[in-house]
Amino acid sequence: MKFGTKVIHAGIKPDPSTGAIMTPIFQTSTYVQKSPGDHQGYEYSRTHNPTRTVLQDNLAALENGKHGLCFSSGMGAIDAVIKLLNPGDEVISTNDLYGGSYRIFTKIFERYGIKFHFISMEEAVSIEKYITEKTELIWVETPTNPMMNIIDIEAVVKIAQKHKVLLAVDNTFATPYLQNPLDMGADIVMHSVTKYISGHSDVVMGALVVKDDDLAEQLRFIQNSCGATPGPQDCFLVLRGIKTLHLRMERHCQNGKTIAAYLKNHPKVEKVYWPGFEDHPNHDVARRQMRAFGGMISFTTVGNRIEDTKTILENLHYFTLAESLGGVESLCGHPASMTHASIPVEEREKVGLVDSLIRLSVGIEDAEDLKNDIAAALSKI
Ligand SMILES: *Cc1c(COP(=O)(O)O)cnc(C)c1O
Repeated sequence: MKFGTKVIHAGIKPDPSTGAIMTPIFQTSTYVQKSPGDHQGYEYSRTHNPTRTVLQDNLAALENGKHGLCFSSGMGAIDAVIKLLNPGDEVISTNDLYGGSYRIFTKIFERYGIKFHFISMEEAVSIEKYITEKTELIWVETPTNPMMNIIDIEAVVKIAQKHKVLLAVDNTFATPYLQNPLDMGADIVMHSVTKYISGHSDVVMGALVVKDDDLAEQLRFIQNSCGATPGPQDCFLVLRGIKTLHLRMERHCQNGKTIAAYLKNHPKVEKVYWPGFEDHPNHDVARRQMRAFGGMISFTTVGNRIEDTKTILENLHYFTLAESLGGVESLCGHPASMTHASIPVEEREKVGLVDSLIRLSVGIEDAEDLKNDIAAALSKI
């Protein structure tokens, strides 16, 4: 089955009791048993819910995995992965990563005795320096947020396999439409489903996809024991959103290309970060591991003045100032004060995340309108 067919059909069957073509919302917490232990596979909705099962199976198919697990947020999914570890274990993570991931690693799990190394992984060999006998997990985000660096997943896989370390990839930015880390040898794929997968800015959800049966069993145990599971209504909304994932992504990528090129040629723009540019430092890796380059773009303006940044953000009209990304509507954000405010200034600036950096999530509106919106806002500085 090809991707465009999977989004509509994988794991999805008409409801056997009624023939309903759309997966029903099983809004129930519990399930009747005929006699103790005699049930139809469902006992309690934290453990299993039929609407969630369909979504989990569909997500597993989209990532070419075997097991999907949904969580009540992307952070819930990340939390479950780190709970595979024990005190004393070490994790090597990308240094340019989602602010919430940095926060849970340093503010929550360091207190439980897990040690994190945040490093630049653009040269995968640099990871080996940090591997000890205590290293249990490598955490990769690519493209990185918000600097749009690309990490060579296959190169990291080689190192992870050599040292028998688990490799998890946060695939939120790329989506399963653009990149499938499990095919390259990663052990765990993580998604903030909130973003492109759901795609309509109306749900918060997370997911993990794995191939390995034992790993799936451990993660399912954590999912059920810790209880960060999504409700059936949200699962339904995500199933509905997924049906157009391929169409939305095509347009996000086209519009992303148009806007990135426009910004690059604008005299008031200093630097544009987008992996589709041939002069992007990891463009070749992006070309190899991604099907296209996505609709996430960051840029800075000439002079790096925070007042200019404010003016631009206040004058954009179709690009709405809001946290999050990946919805049908275009959004803009200021990472230094919004998504990445929890990362210390020195850490931020080390990776180029300066105060004037603006991040765009290019939506699926008409590209001409989006271009004009940016032109008007830039003319104000
Ligand atoms: C949003 C996001 C998360 C966290 O997901 P939530 O659904 O907001 O909990 C993790 N990683 C990346 C890359 C994200 O963009």
